[in-house]
Amino acid sequence: DTIGADLDRTAARWPDREALVDAPTGRRWTYRRFVEDVDRLALALLASDVRKGDRVGIWAVNCAEWVLVQYATARVGAVMVNINPAYRTHEVGFVLEQAGVSLLFASLSHRTSDYRAMVDEVRPACPRLRETVYIGDPGWEAFLRRGTSRARDELLARGSELSCDDPVNIQYTSGTTGFPKGATLSHHNILNNGYFVGESLAYSEQDRICVPVPFYHCFGMVMGNLAATSHGACIVVPAPSFDPRATLEAVQRERCTSLYGVPTMFIAELNLPDFADHDLSSLRTGIMAGSPCPVEVMKRVVSEMNMAEVSICYGMTETSPVSTQTRREDDLEHRTATVGRVLPHIEVKVVDPVDGVTRPRGVPGELCTRGYSVMLGYWDEPGKTAEVIDAGRWMHTGDLAVMREDGYVEIVGRIKDMIIRGGENVYPREIEEFLYGHPGIRDVQVVGVPHEKYGEEVLACVIPGDAAHPPTLEELRAYCEGRLAHYKIPSRLRIMDAFPMTVSGKVRKVELREQHAR
Ligand code: ATP
Ligand code: MG
Repeated sequence: DTIGADLDRTAARWPDREALVDAPTGRRWTYRRFVEDVDRLALALLASDVRKGDRVGIWAVNCAEWVLVQYATARVGAVMVNINPAYRTHEVGFVLEQAGVSLLFASLSHRTSDYRAMVDEVRPACPRLRETVYIGDPGWEAFLRRGTSRARDELLARGSELSCDDPVNIQYTSGTTGFPKGATLSHHNILNNGYFVGESLAYSEQDRICVPVPFYHCFGMVMGNLAATSHGACIVVPAPSFDPRATLEAVQRERCTSLYGVPTMFIAELNLPDFADHDLSSLRTGIMAGSPCPVEVMKRVVSEMNMAEVSICYGMTETSPVSTQTRREDDLEHRTATVGRVLPHIEVKVVDPVDGVTRPRGVPGELCTRGYSVMLGYWDEPGKTAEVIDAGRWMHTGDLAVMREDGYVEIVGRIKDMIIRGGENVYPREIEEFLYGHPGIRDVQVVGVPHEKYGEEVLACVIPGDAAHPPTLEELRAYCEGRLAHYKIPSRLRIMDAFPMTVSGKVRKVELREQHAR
């Protein structure tokens, strides 16, 4: 089905249930009102001559309008282009041009970002950009008024021209390992993925999902918004950008049943000095995903945040995004050591990254996925698409994984992050997990840095629990001695107060390596 048709079905079934709550402004929408507002915006898009396949950009922090734009663009068959709100002129100019965006929705400003000033600056270099509409500006209302002369029949007519295989969205990857790539995704790709993720969490119209992760990323817009609207659940937006206290407050006030985050977000919430003052008793489930989830963090989320059914997902933007997920009935071991089993209608296999031969169970190799979820391709980059999707339509993820006997998948790490020290393969994840147990360490990242004799050596970047008394290299080594093989023990230590992150909340290991080289 198309995203628009699916939304109509939900709204017809639960017109009076809440669809969307914008916590910072206190605005709320029932499904009935939500569809009305989506349609108003969609009619304005038609009145602005947005044709099927036209690219409409959204460069905004989380807010209710972001969600309205997502559904209105899908309704008229436009291709929404998600633009990272952390981008600056150089990057936004690149994306607007690369995707050929003709109409842009943007935030006015957020913290130190003045989006209007940045758009003004790049506009001369983007001849295809006809118009920019700012959210929260009088221009937004003026834009909506354009649609009032249009009849809803026009929307129905446009809807009947759409196919679920049409592209609906260009999403850029997080840029964790290099410059982001634009994955082109169809209605079929992302609507199904959102639906199946919601099924794994047993979502119903009773659920209220707190989404502190950015909408611009698939975690927010697919696993959050589409999972919610395909089940009649409610989307709760706690803040324009991640704020641990605002997140817990929204969960408490809105009685959320589900909470999302990347591991670092949960760590920030758990470490709030007044964490225990929040009533999180309404929570039952949620998703931790995006990067390796430390066991200790997972245990605390289950016991201290009341998220007994919390799930781990593994996926990537190119696969809409989720490929594997843990189930509510899985025990804690499976929900910490693995990323679950493959979702329905998706296949996974683990292959030798060099010759492509399937590896036996228990042996690490490159994870490949196939099924409805694999993107149409990178936007306007057939060469890059061919590098990752092979002739059999298998997507090569670049991640190392192990398939267990019982069908559960373990993620070992990215192929690019693997450290090869004196011929031995070292997986940063394993060392990070081990070091998390050290009482003086709050957060840790392990990367390989060049070494004359061994090729690479192991560097531990540590955020100490107590900044005044960081652990020393000698202490760390003594802690590892006898418990980790000698070649895995960090030979270098760097104390930091924060890691370089992507907006989707991932640590940019590339940058840690580059910083070291400088
Ligand atoms: P880029 O491709 O631009 O370098 P990225 O790969 O981080 O950035 P995304 O598509 O947002 O962009 O993230 C997908 C990647 O995130 C996966 O390939 C994997 O490496 C990592 N990942 C996702 N979920 C998990 C998980 N549960 N455990 C470990 N790693 C994960
Ligand atoms: Mg990637």
